[in-house]
Amino acid sequence: MEKIAFFGLGNMGGPMAANLAKVGYTVAAFDLSPVALEQAQRDGCLPCDSAQQAVEGADIVISMLPSGDAVKELYLGEAGLLQQLPADTLIIDCSTISAEDACLVSQAAGEHGLRAIDAPVSGGTAAAQAGTLCFMCGGDEAAFDAARAPLQVMGSKIFLAGAAGAGQVAKICNNLLLAIHMTGTAEALQLGVDKGLDAKVLSDIMRESSGNNWSLANYNPYPGTMESVPSAKGYAGGFSVALMLKDLGLAMDAASTSASSTPMGALAKNLFQLHGASEENRQLDFSSIQNMFRRPAGSLT
Ligand code: NAD
Repeated sequence: MEKIAFFGLGNMGGPMAANLAKVGYTVAAFDLSPVALEQAQRDGCLPCDSAQQAVEGADIVISMLPSGDAVKELYLGEAGLLQQLPADTLIIDCSTISAEDACLVSQAAGEHGLRAIDAPVSGGTAAAQAGTLCFMCGGDEAAFDAARAPLQVMGSKIFLAGAAGAGQVAKICNNLLLAIHMTGTAEALQLGVDKGLDAKVLSDIMRESSGNNWSLANYNPYPGTMESVPSAKGYAGGFSVALMLKDLGLAMDAASTSASSTPMGALAKNLFQLHGASEENRQLDFSSIQNMFRRPAGSLT
């Protein structure tokens, strides 16, 4: 089986690398965090002391990093990995970054005789652990086909959206919509509760009605309506407000380059910005936007 070098063993990358190791890939893992590296070792990966060590003999390089700057720093420039990877190595960047940054990496990879796709994901940490992520890829078809086998280990739905950068465009469109329906769901649930309805009963009704949507049905933001979602655990874990703000920022930047109108997305971004004004809230799951609509008990007019 091919050898994989895996970079970024955080909430998402950690379980993704673990799933690859579980099915028999040799996974050489690198992260700036020693704690993440120790966990990767427990998960069957080979922890490495440096990026250079991780890519030795690797056929495939996978990255799952927090930002476009981190991705560019890893691959580009004089110290970047593109300088040392042998021709034909396949690069799969799963980080959520701008389409422009993804194109930069793809183009530079091509100049070095390497193959690269952008492959951001939807599904969150639970899907990363279960190996059921949705991958949205951008790149040429041959590189996409070569990436299929490891992607199928980490995910259950795999799409080629178009050329380099197209995966990132699909990802930000998806998360723009996610932010909008999560905010709208929180607003509707709070209205019902303020008017005396039970949030769970109202959720059951709307799930069978035309208001149904993923946030309501799979990730209900109102505490007490659903088990095993962040709202049942004080909004701990999951997909942070900070990461949602990053994605909404990418979406707004993208919209400005195509002169697209995104008023709902802009409003959702502003609401998340207000909610995330405190560092504490920024670290909560994004469904904690429910708290913006909740009133303290006994404060009804
Ligand atoms: P995270 O902060 O938990 O993990 C990022 C990891 O990358 C950290 O362990 C960090 O130490 C490591 N890192 C940073 N720079 C590095 C470098 N140069 N070399 C090696 N390791 C480095 O973030 P996450 O939640 O795993 O998210 C990763 C990416 O996935 C982000 O782009 C995010 O937008 C995207 N994403 C996250 C979720 C989610 O639910 N958390 C869902 C979909 C997509």
